[in-house]
Amino acid sequence: GYRKGGYHAARPGDRFAGGRFVAQRKLGWGNFSTVWLAYDTLESRFVALKIQKSARDYAHAARHEIELLSAAAKADPTNSKCVVRLLDHFKHTGPNGQHVCLVTEFLGDSLLRLIRYNRNKGIGLSRVKEICRSVLVGLDYLHNELGIIHTDLKPENVLLVSTINPAKDPVRSGFTPILDRLVGNQYGGAVISFSEKMLKMRARRAVAKISQRRVSLGGVAAEVDKERNLDGISLKCKIVDFGNACWADQQLAGEIQTRQYRAPEVIIGSGYSYSADMWSFACMAFELATGELLFAPKCCQGCSEDEDHLAQMMETLGKMPRKMATSGTRSKDYFDRYGDLKRIKRLKFWPVDRILVERFDFTEPDAKGFTDFLQPILDFTPENRPSAMQCLKHPWLN
Ligand code: ATP
Ligand code: MG
Ligand code: MG
Repeated sequence: GYRKGGYHAARPGDRFAGGRFVAQRKLGWGNFSTVWLAYDTLESRFVALKIQKSARDYAHAARHEIELLSAAAKADPTNSKCVVRLLDHFKHTGPNGQHVCLVTEFLGDSLLRLIRYNRNKGIGLSRVKEICRSVLVGLDYLHNELGIIHTDLKPENVLLVSTINPAKDPVRSGFTPILDRLVGNQYGGAVISFSEKMLKMRARRAVAKISQRRVSLGGVAAEVDKERNLDGISLKCKIVDFGNACWADQQLAGEIQTRQYRAPEVIIGSGYSYSADMWSFACMAFELATGELLFAPKCCQGCSEDEDHLAQMMETLGKMPRKMATSGTRSKDYFDRYGDLKRIKRLKFWPVDRILVERFDFTEPDAKGFTDFLQPILDFTPENRPSAMQCLKHPWLN
């Protein structure tokens, strides 16, 4: 990564854009960039600084991301549409080349970390609803007002809104959660949006618990786990990572989305639109509620990941309509002319509401309410899926 054409190696204290932004510490990284917490000396605020790899393709991708995020910022003067705010951009020259840099508002942990933080048990339906509302506001804005398909919606690309001032944070990190420090980072992360008071309180309690119970690591983990409630966390969130997003009328890639969140029309190659984001949204909502992926396809003997994925979809959602199954450029690879899978014959039907009750111990009414919301979004036929706006009006959210 850190070579010609690759990442820029930044260090705390490094200055960017003629000295305006001062790097504080690394917040995260992706395939394209490293992201730093930085202090904006002109506006006296903390920002996130995304430093793109320098090779031409990466620079091109960053300029594309800037184009889309600029449009998103321009049409939302009050910054209330649940899309990360682009504040500035510039080029930075370092030993590995010239890096396009994006300055965005500083946000908190991703939903992926929230899910892991809660030890893969789901985060509770009222929180799921709150997050769904934010994400749907963002999607409605992208789809209806801007004409943008995100194409990579997943828990990693939705960040909680931070309520912490990194300068005043008691652990002086603002981001690395205190519980992780204390228990040796077993949980892979926590949430930033605790109030300061809450963080201090939790730190004290965690220390007390740990010293009470130094018997075994398992004991500590179990004790700390009990402390794990999410009260006091702001669950407003924003959609980030527009590196793969596109204008609906200027689609480039045939294959979009991260595997587990990929819509059926993308797999069979029958064209996609905004409704592909809705599919990913539903997969993500299920994961927030249960802590587990809705679909986790694998290569199996004699069948590809794609085929296993289609089989899993049909086991959960019923048979794909023949018209849909045979409509894609790749349909013939997977389906016979009756719309049955060629290589996977025996499917065990296990519908969403039964999974929720039998595997995740949902009550019947909870399972029914959630399934009423989710099932229509998981329609195999993209045109039948409700829009983000329609989902926002669903009784389950209101
Ligand atoms: P990918 O390989 O997923 O395309 P990328 O290089 O395009 O990654 P992003 O996904 O935009 O980079 O950001 C990488 C990580 O940096 C995020 O997952 C998140 O942890 C962190 N991050 C990004 N933007 C912010 C922000 N505004 N505030 C706080 N953290 C952020
Ligand atoms: Mg990302
Ligand atoms: Mg990206």
